Amino acid sequence: MSSENNHEVDIMYGLKTVLAQIEGAVARRSKDLPQILPKLVAVSKIKPVPLIIQAYEAGQRHFGENYVNELAEKAHNPDILEKCKEIKWHFIGHLQTNKINKCLGSPGLYILETVDSEKLADNLNKQWAKIRNTDDKLNIMVQVNTSGEEAKSGIDPSQATNLVEHVIKNCHNLNFQGLMTIGQYDYDTSLGPNPDFLSLVKCRQEVTDKLNLDINNIELSMGMSTDFEHAIELGATTVRVGSKIFGARPPKN
Ligand SMILES: *Cc1c(COP(=O)(O)O)cnc(C)c1O
Repeated sequence: MSSENNHEVDIMYGLKTVLAQIEGAVARRSKDLPQILPKLVAVSKIKPVPLIIQAYEAGQRHFGENYVNELAEKAHNPDILEKCKEIKWHFIGHLQTNKINKCLGSPGLYILETVDSEKLADNLNKQWAKIRNTDDKLNIMVQVNTSGEEAKSGIDPSQATNLVEHVIKNCHNLNFQGLMTIGQYDYDTSLGPNPDFLSLVKCRQEVTDKLNLDINNIELSMGMSTDFEHAIELGATTVRVGSKIFGARPPKN
């Protein structure tokens, strides 16, 4: 066992704490915002299957992964299949064309949060029609690069509405559920509201106005361990929290 694993993590405690903090943040949220109850996605990347099962048994249903191979492996894991029958996987990483089928073939896939081009949307639309075994559409979110950092995926905010329109008009096997952003890490909130979150809120308003959609049906996926409460106060309806539940991940090399 690595030293990370020796460190006992109390998943139940982590989940409870995060859920209580979510509730507190909802109470502080501006009443002008759509009153959508935030969904907690437990981001389990790099974390082993037994921890996922522990979280599931504590009541958690939505889990996030951002590497296709890891998602596929965990989703097909016999223990997960047996013990976590209602698990809902969120794919939150960058999806390459050659990994689409592997991603879509993952049992329990609930949503793909990272659609950032017409080409990817078209490919998903085509492949989902071949792979799915129900009439259900594939839930997707459009990922927006709100911070303008080149290393981050996502479509430019100015193009978000066009991409959403493309999905709604041309991709009939996809179900548009909302907008997602990662944003800059470690933003100092003493400087004011995180501009990335404000930018995503603004994108949703534009999508709503230009495409004549109901704002209450458009989710905002934003906020992670360090800033999910702040994100909820600004309107997040999906927060993606990893280390706060499962413990710190080893640093990237
Ligand atoms: C890893 C990851 C998260 C969770 O990060 P934490 O800081 O551990 O909460 C959220 N969203 C994405 C896209 C991620 O890759």
